[in-house]
Amino acid sequence: MTELAQPAAPAASVDLSDYEIVNHHFDAAADRLGLADDLREVFRTPYREVKVQIPLRMHDGACRVFHGYRVQHNGARGPYKGGLRYHPRVDLHEVRALAALMTWKTALVGIPFGGAKGGVDCPAGDLDAGQLERITRQLVDKLDETIGPQRDIAAPDVNTDAQVMAWIMDEWGKLHGDAPAVVTGKPLSLGGSFGRETATGRGLIDVLGDAAPAIGLELEGARMVVQGFGNVGSAAARIAHGRHGCRIVGVADEHGAVHAEQGLDPDALHRHLRAGGRLAELPGVEPIDPGDLLALECEVLVPAALGGMIHAGNADRLRCRLLLEGANSPTTPKADAILHDRGVHVVPDVLANAGGVIVSYFEWVQNLQHFRWDEREVHERLARVLRRAHGEVAERAERWGTPMRQAAYGLGIERVVEVARTRGKV
Ligand code: NAD
Repeated sequence: MTELAQPAAPAASVDLSDYEIVNHHFDAAADRLGLADDLREVFRTPYREVKVQIPLRMHDGACRVFHGYRVQHNGARGPYKGGLRYHPRVDLHEVRALAALMTWKTALVGIPFGGAKGGVDCPAGDLDAGQLERITRQLVDKLDETIGPQRDIAAPDVNTDAQVMAWIMDEWGKLHGDAPAVVTGKPLSLGGSFGRETATGRGLIDVLGDAAPAIGLELEGARMVVQGFGNVGSAAARIAHGRHGCRIVGVADEHGAVHAEQGLDPDALHRHLRAGGRLAELPGVEPIDPGDLLALECEVLVPAALGGMIHAGNADRLRCRLLLEGANSPTTPKADAILHDRGVHVVPDVLANAGGVIVSYFEWVQNLQHFRWDEREVHERLARVLRRAHGEVAERAERWGTPMRQAAYGLGIERVVEVARTRGKV
């Protein structure tokens, strides 16, 4: 599957593929909404799927062909919007699943975008900046008219960052004239928004601030375990620690996992990893088997790596009170059912990690207005959108008597269907 070294990674799901997971959740909510079978087929099926060839000269002189994908799932509510992922696990099924998730997420939080996702199946961690730049520019050249500021807007995801967004903006600008709004998550110097880099992690902690009291969980001093310490996991850990005094007692990345019963300093860890260090080198931590990370006792568990990491084979081992889904589709349906039976409060991805796309929307709006908001304004607006969305999901879950995931999907689907009907699309 991969040439990227993942020596100690816990096994991903064997329950269902990512696409089957999203469709499972879609069907559960569609049942509750009474959505007819023919309409289900319409809203499950992506509008457009593009696959392109990306040849790259490797360090050993050989030429390898990677594959780039962009799936535009549903555009009834506005331009397609979704991240771009560079990882050997990327394939059409994964991208399709993530694109569908974006459709329900943007509708749930009420921003005027459709859902899309893209990716390249390359081992990003083994490539140098020049190779990543060549991959990115080829992808943009080949997608060409498929993307655009009013058509489809990309953003960072796993192994892509502000620099990758800058290359996309530059390459697209060569073909069509400069338009910063073609991507979000850009560097500030190119029209990026204050607060975008940490938006997903900040949004997670905003949502946690509303979700925890609902189950009587005191956040001051609460133990938190974080799987994946990249953009999302690192920001979530640092903000939870800074805002609530949460104790970060376990962290994993693709190279390993550590336990620190007294809590580790997430800001120091962030600096250490940025400087090229490894998790296990941080003073005061004890390396553990990555498979054991999810079994650490804690109040809040934040999966912030890849999909399918919490599955039927390990859901029984979780010892958290609240599962805050930073990653997309980290929990399979079987695991969901196990956690529900065990009384774990699951705050689903479509709500919990929506901070990224919300601030991406703010960035797009600022670009179109040629205006920049200050950081405080971005944070306050983000918190307001998420508070409303959390309230709506909690109210729906209460009324339906279902877990939050089903309520969140239900709200998202309902809004997309309504717009599609009003526009005469179905
Ligand atoms: P990233 O590339 O910045 O970080 C990914 C992290 O996961 C890294 O620390 C990596 O080492 C770790 N990781 C990879 N494989 C692992 C494994 N097997 N076990 C443990 N750790 C592993 O990516 P990101 O942007 O932080 O995205 C993480 C997740 O959050 C993804 O599911 C992504 O779709 C989702 N997400 C991201 C955003 C965003 O704004 N970046 C928004 C919404 C959702």
